[in-house]
Amino acid sequence: MAQRYVRVKTNQGQTYYGLLQLTSRIQVLDAPPWLQGQPTDIELEAGSYQLLAPCSPSKIVAVGKNYVDHAAEMGTPVPKEPLLFMKPPTAITAANREIHYPPQSQRVDYEGELALVIGAPCVDCTPAEAQGKIWGYTIANDVTARDLQKQDGQWTRAKGFNSFCPLGPWIVRELSAGARIQTFLNDAPQPVQSALTNQMVFSPEFLVSYISQVMTLLPGDVILTGTPEGVGPVQIGDRVRVEIEGIGHLENTVVARSLPESP
Ligand code: MG
Repeated sequence: MAQRYVRVKTNQGQTYYGLLQLTSRIQVLDAPPWLQGQPTDIELEAGSYQLLAPCSPSKIVAVGKNYVDHAAEMGTPVPKEPLLFMKPPTAITAANREIHYPPQSQRVDYEGELALVIGAPCVDCTPAEAQGKIWGYTIANDVTARDLQKQDGQWTRAKGFNSFCPLGPWIVRELSAGARIQTFLNDAPQPVQSALTNQMVFSPEFLVSYISQVMTLLPGDVILTGTPEGVGPVQIGDRVRVEIEGIGHLENTVVARSLPESP
């Protein structure tokens, strides 16, 4: 199995980057691995930590309509250039944590996606240079309030709710070009989304290059590469599982979120 890079919080409240071993013990690193973190002599026993999202990005840059069949199901052509939007880092939630269904929406969709983790500052990179800036790969769910996306015209609210970016559970360094990505709902054996990552319109290195001509990407930043065909709604109580061959799976449960009492 590929080396699995994680970020954890111990039962005592310390946050560490580390390597997840087959025994479920964590070998703690002294810094994020993309900043040359080295193994320490600290090991965490199973049960003494919880997994966090595997990085803590300054920003999440996402790409819309990057699979031909998904653009078609949205009734739109494939964009001539990548269509960029952002999700706030506060939208991130870890594997096995809850997605909070906001009361402002009546239609919340899952969007299983391959996520890229940037390893080094990246500005005005060519695609060839950009390939070297992609440190690793993880799984994301670009949860979207579809009704608010259509209503607002721009996507910040629809994409930006707390918990609308499940990410993880870990990062791997390598991914085969044609890795299968699938999304499952609850116990249904058939996926609701199934595609190969090389069916993307714009490749990971092209996306990183393109984004780097707009904004500087920093170590630990995350790029969401778009979702395949088959997006659909979740209901409160649903479990959503996104699987990518060679990485693993990311599962989250949908719960109701109530608005805070007004002061
Ligand atoms: Mg998306």
